[in-house]
Amino acid sequence: MKELSKIALAVEPSSTMAIDTLFKQMKAEGQDVIGFGAGEPDFNTPDYIKEAGIAAIEHNETRYTPSSGTVELRKAICQRLKADCGVEYTPQQISVSNGAKPCVYVALRALINPGDEVILPSPYWVSYSELIKMTGGVPVIVETREADHFKLTAQELRDAITPKTKAMILNNPSNPTGMMYSRKELEEIAKVCVEQDIYVICDEIYYHLVYDGEEFVSLASISPEIKERTLLVNGVSKSYAMTGWRIGYVAANNQVSKVIANYLSHCTGSPSSISQKAAVTALTASQESVEVMRKAFERRRDYMVERMNSIEGVSCIKPHGAFYVMMNIEKLIGQELHGVVIRDADDFGNLFLKYGKVAVVPGTGFGAPTFVRWSYATSIENIKEGLNRLERFLKGETI
Ligand code: PMP
Ligand code: GLU
Repeated sequence: MKELSKIALAVEPSSTMAIDTLFKQMKAEGQDVIGFGAGEPDFNTPDYIKEAGIAAIEHNETRYTPSSGTVELRKAICQRLKADCGVEYTPQQISVSNGAKPCVYVALRALINPGDEVILPSPYWVSYSELIKMTGGVPVIVETREADHFKLTAQELRDAITPKTKAMILNNPSNPTGMMYSRKELEEIAKVCVEQDIYVICDEIYYHLVYDGEEFVSLASISPEIKERTLLVNGVSKSYAMTGWRIGYVAANNQVSKVIANYLSHCTGSPSSISQKAAVTALTASQESVEVMRKAFERRRDYMVERMNSIEGVSCIKPHGAFYVMMNIEKLIGQELHGVVIRDADDFGNLFLKYGKVAVVPGTGFGAPTFVRWSYATSIENIKEGLNRLERFLKGETI
């Protein structure tokens, strides 16, 4: 048989999805395992949003919609972006698709010719590198350090730019590090991007989940010049506990939006009409439920960070957003645990699942092989028990 697509064959599976599948399988088999793998809120979608979805079905809102989303939803997105992020877009500049993940894909599709370079600071969300490859682009990974709070500096960005650079991906607040760029840091990055004329795919899906009273700044709000070059990705999955509804969007300049709309009109048809109705309610109703969830995440983060740093052999820095903690396992590398010498985060993750009965995501897939990611989008009871298990596991006990 003829060879499959070289581009497709080069794509690695998603480690976050793989851990979640394995965890769910072990759970279904009746094993006493605790999951910190999947980055999805454990809260249910708020009732008033679910009711909007049910009403959409009852009112027969069950047909195709415009391929980039209904005008009603795109207007609601514009209002929310203006109110929360201080950025103004027209409904024509918004493209809605089936979650933020395909939005990153179509954003890249709109920009990338084969061989174009896309700068990606590491640690990065596992899908970015593969999505770049899927569009024929070349990921240029720029490592950031824990000591710098995993943030890319303007100088590091400048040094990574070549004549082939088309774009960079910025995820703010970041999955997996939970770090958030300040206004000043964004201004410096924006200056380089404008000077060097590169696009930024800025994924701000965690923008509601920000802690310690810190200010979230949307990249597109920095200046009209950077807004013109920004493809702002966002969605309802994380802020409204709506991961299964599959609604995300890209906001961009007219030309980019037109190209994305053409693309979507062929490859997805339209996002779910029912989910779009629910998303309108999520975005336009009172935002109180978002605040309730945000506060719960903040309490969980505080507990997890403090407890993790009290355990010998591991450590973490305090994240300012999203719902992830990057646990540093550098001290464990080369040590023997449960009869195995730990070489990297993959070894650690496998052993911890086998002997500690806890699922975490090894940093290897994020370009950070001496870290593992814990998601705190789970109950405080699970967090306490997970960290108890970590302590026992590191002492050589089997759960
Ligand atoms: N961007 C980031 C940074 C994410 O963590 C996720 C989570 N899957 C997504 C995008 C995709 O979100 P969605 O579920 O809306 O596709
Ligand atoms: N974004 C989440 C995570 O990082 C969900 C899984 C995925 O889409 O990668 O765990």
